[in-house]
Amino acid sequence: MFIVKRAADLQKITENQGHIGFVPTMGALHRGHISLIEKSRDASQLTVCSIFVNPTQFNDPQDFIKYPKTLENDIYLLEKAGCDVLFLPEVSEMYPEGILNIRQYPIGYLDTILEGLHRPGHFNGVCAIVHKLLQTVNPNLLYLGEKDFQQCLVIQQLVQNESIPVEVQICPTTRLPNGLAMSSRNQRLSESGKELASAIYRNLKKIQANWQNESFSILRQQALNALQEASFETEYLELADANNLHPLSDFDASKLMVVLIATRLEGIRLIDNIKIPLS
Ligand code: AMP
Repeated sequence: MFIVKRAADLQKITENQGHIGFVPTMGALHRGHISLIEKSRDASQLTVCSIFVNPTQFNDPQDFIKYPKTLENDIYLLEKAGCDVLFLPEVSEMYPEGILNIRQYPIGYLDTILEGLHRPGHFNGVCAIVHKLLQTVNPNLLYLGEKDFQQCLVIQQLVQNESIPVEVQICPTTRLPNGLAMSSRNQRLSESGKELASAIYRNLKKIQANWQNESFSILRQQALNALQEASFETEYLELADANNLHPLSDFDASKLMVVLIATRLEGIRLIDNIKIPLS
């Protein structure tokens, strides 16, 4: 695997390489990230992974400072998975004009709800870095994880607005055996916290299993109560149209729906989602 820090060196490797698959990450890699690498490897001639902890998408400075860094293990996992190129840029490479006055992207509605509402500026930072990375890597296929459901919609909109010639592939969430969605932030949970955190998916599954028998507001309240009893502090638990995240006050069988949650355990903010009906 080639490991490069500079865009110009990356472009020397990627030019004339045919079909390129790209997996952008912030490192602290786990099986969820690796599942994206494997999908790219199977569909592309060259797979590029980037690791860049993007400062402009952190609305909480402590979250940025404490973001886990495990580069040696990341390189080991990527080599084992058959990744061809690891792009490891410095902040100055991605933001030559600095990080303070980045371009504002027209995110619109998606910036006013759920993650957008609770993390001001987050999606603008995501758009800034994904746009820059796509211009640098110039891939044919971009692999994203459905765990970050709203982020997938924001990036699909970015690709459309900026007319970026890339196909977006959305990949299913990889989970621990107890159901907890794999996340780099899980590393900051205690062992008992990791076990307790499985309640997030368990409660989402309960809503999914009962959507035809009970109203969303009742199922939502039951889930919120169960999570509160297990000492979670939930930021949101909402039902929306899976195609555009327009809010739904109750289940609507004519639509593909999604339930999305952000909740804190041991001070760590965790997100997850589940589609209804099952897909
Ligand atoms: P991150 O490093 O958290 O920014 O994630 C990089 C990419 O991996 C994003 O497209 C995420 O949605 C995706 N990803 C993160 N966790 C998972 C998971 N558990 N399963 C599948 N994809 C994931």
